Amino acid sequence: MTNANWFDSQTILDGIRRWVEIETPTEAPEQVNKLISLVAEQYRDLPVTLERIAGVDGCGDHLVARTIWGQDAPGILVLSHLDTVHPMGFIERLPFRIEGDSAFGPGIYDMKGGAYIAHHAFGALCATTDRSPLGITHIFTSDEEIGSPNSRALIEREGRKAKYVLVTEPARDGGKIVTGRKGVGRFEVFIKGVPAHAGTRPQDGRSANRELANLILALEGMNDLERGVTVNVGVVRGGTRPNVTPEEAYAEIDLRVPSFTDAEEFVGRILGLTSKTDGVTIKVTGGLNRPPYEKNNAGASLYEHAKALAAEIGFELIDTHTGGGSDGNFTAAHTATLDGLGVDGKGAHTHYEQLYVSSLEPRARLLHRLYQTLR
Ligand SMILES: [Zn+2]
Repeated sequence: MTNANWFDSQTILDGIRRWVEIETPTEAPEQVNKLISLVAEQYRDLPVTLERIAGVDGCGDHLVARTIWGQDAPGILVLSHLDTVHPMGFIERLPFRIEGDSAFGPGIYDMKGGAYIAHHAFGALCATTDRSPLGITHIFTSDEEIGSPNSRALIEREGRKAKYVLVTEPARDGGKIVTGRKGVGRFEVFIKGVPAHAGTRPQDGRSANRELANLILALEGMNDLERGVTVNVGVVRGGTRPNVTPEEAYAEIDLRVPSFTDAEEFVGRILGLTSKTDGVTIKVTGGLNRPPYEKNNAGASLYEHAKALAAEIGFELIDTHTGGGSDGNFTAAHTATLDGLGVDGKGAHTHYEQLYVSSLEPRARLLHRLYQTLR
């Protein structure tokens, strides 16, 4: 293939379609492994060594592809996840199809499109005799959508070794890349009260639900949109029957914080919640599962470099911050990290998930140029 053919949108889209048509819900490891096998197969003639790491805890395998050059020095780490949030069979509701500039399919935008173009751009690099100045390691993981419990250690280890980290999560709001992400905290609250017959012995009861109500108000009161702190009591349960003073109640909480200082403060406040009622106890567990990703100097110069390359290709690269977490949160504190390098589109996690076909060529070219020029 000539260089022009490599970046032909239809060629790229055909490749993405094959990846999308193998459904890969995080909780279906045999499906994720089918795709991992296809990706491994597609590396067969490329100059890499492959390491396949067996999945654990009901998740699929991870695949690590390392260039045969440049592995003795800090290089480029590319992070992609192949799992999706969509359940098995969702493809019948959202089959691969093209309408105008949009291509639809489960996980096509988050993030099979991005994972594929990074792989494809690497193929383009290897099609010439030139090698990238730095070694490239591309990790494909199977558990990002549940917070990367199994791949986190691998990502952190490879992230510390790398000089640059490129994350192929989708672009935001019209092609923006991501140079900052909020940290994410998850908590569970267990409330224990005293049960009683609500009609005949109400004075003996201590309602766990009532305490839960106090707690919800305290937590909702922590929201500070100006500061970028959000607290959501997303799940609540409590009680057994209308005529019983509820003995137990339960809640799940999601916290988002823009900085490490905020993380420390709000994790402390949530873990420190106490009961306002005698005889009712509150136990809070959890903490930060993704640290905040704040733009630092190394990240800023990587961004400037990518911006200049995009301008050469013919598009403007703009950066943004987002409340969504990604695997970039695990590497940004130590290593220059650029996220949102995947495809542009919309509708992540929905029944109208789509990528913009017009974003495929420029963004694949950008990844290719990053491989060629980062040193
Ligand atoms: Zn994603």
